Amino acid sequence: MTPAVVLLSGGLDSTTVLAMAKAEEFAPYALSFRYGQRHAVELEAATRIAQTLGVAEHIIADIDLRRLGASALTADIAVPKGRALEDMETGIPATYVPARNTVFLSLALAWAEFLGASDLFIGVNALDYSGYPDCRPDYIAAFEQMANLATAAGVQGHQRLKIHAPLMALSKAEIIRKGLELGVDYALTRSCYDPVGEGMPCGQCDACLLRAKGFAEAGVPDPLLMHREAGV
Ligand code: ZN
Repeated sequence: MTPAVVLLSGGLDSTTVLAMAKAEEFAPYALSFRYGQRHAVELEAATRIAQTLGVAEHIIADIDLRRLGASALTADIAVPKGRALEDMETGIPATYVPARNTVFLSLALAWAEFLGASDLFIGVNALDYSGYPDCRPDYIAAFEQMANLATAAGVQGHQRLKIHAPLMALSKAEIIRKGLELGVDYALTRSCYDPVGEGMPCGQCDACLLRAKGFAEAGVPDPLLMHREAGV
């Protein structure tokens, strides 16, 4: 099977992407990051997801981005709550982590080169998203171009790296439907930026609101919330 590096946060989007990579017969090498996020509970989710879906290898790399700048995801800054969806479409929120996807993709690129993998999967989305500049198609295309100039494998011409961003043009509801088709158990995934108690979703951050909108539009209940209501 062809190896592919898949960025796996433990959230809904990256889990769907992992399932899509598997459906395309890639052998996924899943990469997660402990970057100082307050919602580190997502890493436990990533571990369970990697085990459940089956990957060739799963690495959780430690890179403490707290040292390099403050974000509501990594520092003691309030996570915006209860924002209207229109507000998410304009402006860059406090949860933006400086250059996060560039850092993540760069490390994924390093692993891909080592593995001899020409394919890299990332779950960025330009529709139902939070206004992050490093989730746009132009950004992904530019990174792919850069990657092919950056590596020995690319320059020697025996590897043409491709970045797959299969969720880019999908709505959250379409992503959920796609994942359900592929048998993804979304109860395993964690999306919340500011979880409470034992890692349960706050229900009010951008990630929780976008997730809720997605399940509502897909016409299916969020299994994570059903577990919560059942006290499981
Ligand atoms: Zn939340």
